[in-house]
Amino acid sequence: MKKILIQNGTLVLPGKGMLVDRDILLEDGIVRRVGRGLTDPQAFRVNASGLLVGPGFINLHVHFREPGEEYKEDLRSGSRAAAMGGFTSVLCMPNTQPPVDEPMIVRYLRSMAREVSLVNMYFAGAITRGLEGASMAEYGLMREAGVPALSDDGKCVMDSLLLSRVMEYSTYFSLPLILHEEDPNLEGNGQLNRGETAFRMGIKGIPTSAEESVIARDLVFALHSGARVHITHLSTALGVELIEFFRLRGTKVSADVTPHHLLLTDQAVAEHGSLVKVKPPLREEKDVQALKEGIKRGVVEMLASDHAPHSTENKEGDFNEAAYGISNLEISVPLYAKSLVEEGIIGWVDLWRNLSLRPAQLLGLSRKGDLEEGMDADVTLVDPDTEWEVRIEDFESKGRNCPFNRMPLIGWPVTTIVGGELVVHERSVLLP
Ligand SMILES: [Zn+2]
Repeated sequence: MKKILIQNGTLVLPGKGMLVDRDILLEDGIVRRVGRGLTDPQAFRVNASGLLVGPGFINLHVHFREPGEEYKEDLRSGSRAAAMGGFTSVLCMPNTQPPVDEPMIVRYLRSMAREVSLVNMYFAGAITRGLEGASMAEYGLMREAGVPALSDDGKCVMDSLLLSRVMEYSTYFSLPLILHEEDPNLEGNGQLNRGETAFRMGIKGIPTSAEESVIARDLVFALHSGARVHITHLSTALGVELIEFFRLRGTKVSADVTPHHLLLTDQAVAEHGSLVKVKPPLREEKDVQALKEGIKRGVVEMLASDHAPHSTENKEGDFNEAAYGISNLEISVPLYAKSLVEEGIIGWVDLWRNLSLRPAQLLGLSRKGDLEEGMDADVTLVDPDTEWEVRIEDFESKGRNCPFNRMPLIGWPVTTIVGGELVVHERSVLLP
């Protein structure tokens, strides 16, 4: 395997919480050396002058639609989008057709990924069989098959007795539960956040309590069982307070926020229509501010895309019929840079930690998430200064359902190295 020497860059070390000017030598799939003035005549040299060099980003929440809806995205196109977005590892949600709820499907997807994926691809196993919320899936066997986490994402497990047992059970397998928190009874057939915008448009709203009431319930179960839980795509101000309340009492809870919940409010529907129809719905300015404050104070310590590609037909037509989701994988990092770094909420080191070390710890990936010598050679280079426009026509993802088209952004990943192999260089995927 060839060697890569990255010179003249600013190294981001999330574990130490530092930025340092160091070179880094990658060899045989690992970080061989970190130091000043490194040379190696045999190595491929990358000049990282003016760039940030850090551990590859790890995305806890993507939908790659395979098996079942490959016309929206497949493992290959999704992995190309991930690599362009600077993500060296992704966790695919199990709400495919069929869902990932048994070991055979996990093994099949992992073998497919080994063949076609440009990045490290992990698969969450379903919490309940068929994502139907009625009975537990086979956690032990799915763990043996390689799942690092459990989730019924897209759906909320509503049976309280079942979920409280799942929590107790999950601790035996050391599998974290990634929870999509929305009570379908409270949602009704709501389409937007319940508030002024939905009222004015005559569209039925979804109250924030649909999310907050299940977060409260599940954190009570997590407190009593000791289960490791992760609230994904957190969207409300009270949600942040609930997480802090339960964490202070010893609950093992973390949370992530999507880029769109940090950059948009429900008012964006007036301009973008169903392009910004997502679950949970975009909320109000006070919620956006509370999420940012939660990130600043470390209550919310992870970030994840909820990359949800759809075909144009799925998103067109009647608002009430349109699918939920935004395709954002290759622009997530610059979107976070805009909402968090440019606004002075957190700096690059904290942003990087929320997108690498912390997700690695949640998924038990001990050799990933940092750049100490001996760790995996998953590395991303980011240009913190140059401004480029979002161009959906250039997306590697099949999903063009993105409201951020033509937005000028800084903080783009420019080079992505996975397991010591150069996959993206100077903003181009190197493989066919
Ligand atoms: Zn979800």
